Amino acid sequence: MSTVDWSSIRNDFPILGQRVHGKPLVYFDNAATSQKPKQVLDSLVDYYSRYNSNVHRGVHRLSQQATDAYEATRFKLQAWLNAREAAEIIYTKGTTDSINLVASSWGRSSLRFGDEVLISGLEHHANIVPWQLICEEKGAVLKVIPVLDNGTLDMDAFYSLLSEKTKIVAVNWISNALGTVNPVQEIIYAAHEHDIPVLLDAAQAAAHSSINVQALDVDFLAFSAHKMCGPTGIGVLYGKRELLDDMPPYQGGGDMIDRVTFEKTTFNVLPLKFEAGTPNIADVIAFGTALDYLGTLGMEAIEARENELLAYATHKLQQLDGLRIYGTAPEKIAVISFMIGAAHPYDIGVLLDQQGIAIRTGHHCTQPLMDRFGLPGTCRASFAFYNTEEEIDIFVTALQKIIPILA
Ligand code: PMP
Repeated sequence: MSTVDWSSIRNDFPILGQRVHGKPLVYFDNAATSQKPKQVLDSLVDYYSRYNSNVHRGVHRLSQQATDAYEATRFKLQAWLNAREAAEIIYTKGTTDSINLVASSWGRSSLRFGDEVLISGLEHHANIVPWQLICEEKGAVLKVIPVLDNGTLDMDAFYSLLSEKTKIVAVNWISNALGTVNPVQEIIYAAHEHDIPVLLDAAQAAAHSSINVQALDVDFLAFSAHKMCGPTGIGVLYGKRELLDDMPPYQGGGDMIDRVTFEKTTFNVLPLKFEAGTPNIADVIAFGTALDYLGTLGMEAIEARENELLAYATHKLQQLDGLRIYGTAPEKIAVISFMIGAAHPYDIGVLLDQQGIAIRTGHHCTQPLMDRFGLPGTCRASFAFYNTEEEIDIFVTALQKIIPILA
């Protein structure tokens, strides 16, 4: 049993106390981005007011302080992920940037004409488009694991798609649109049987569960701080050293070099080889604070609390005539995609907003998945550990008013 007092947790999040359209804010758009506790906000102010300075370059006191705090987050991430070494943690702008880094750098050096890249029908555009771009450039082929009616992957199809042509498997750990948790351990195991590396898009997974990259034996893993109570503009690419060492730089500039002459440039060692230019120092440091915050609550406790909210909300929504839930995988995170009759998701979103309730409407950056279900988009309510059953009740009451108007 968790010892966390979940109701008092809300006091850590200043934004949650406000009213929207005269109603208390009910924030159910956590899969898009999470809210930030005051500890993270304080960390940003502290950096800019006390030791704002560039990293890795100065001998002076402030630069050393900034560098220490900036690198401290890398060690926290190493421990968070159970990576072998901190050098395997590359700072990026976010999940999208991490996947683009792998598709560009690994893809450019490893893909040949006729090779195959295997993704799934549950992917966010961030794990589709970078692969399409590099496949087009290299004459490689994008293959897709189909999705079953309940929103899970067709694993039989996955096994038959794996072949000697497959050069990488890049899949979503958890679907942002439907909440499906994919059997990633099984996928990694099967791919490794064929010596194929696996990239996991952990944008959603990192926010909801603990991650052990060595136990998973995953080759690349991408996620964003802003879904984990951290700031926007900062994310992580974890990669195994043996793969990262062999990859060419993604971008050129300051910090990523060893020696520059006009004739030839040699490159820095990991992780700096992939971190060109002045990095996002303040947000890296504040991300470290977010990790401390989540770590104090405990990811297991967070996961259990969010599962309680999911079960409570699913049960309540299933009672509502005229509302259909999309994504009914046995293993899900606290994301509920739904539709009401033939109503457009946008209209539902607007009516809920008038009640102070923030949900997401649209294709959730998963247009091929929406096409798979023949939908223009869905409404998506996604819960975080700071949400409450009372908020779900407010949401259900609002839906009860809306359904007769729209259904
Ligand atoms: N993949 C998934 C599964 C996501 O949910 C998101 C964010 N919605 C992304 C990738 C992209 O993350 P970011 O916009 O932070 O780069």
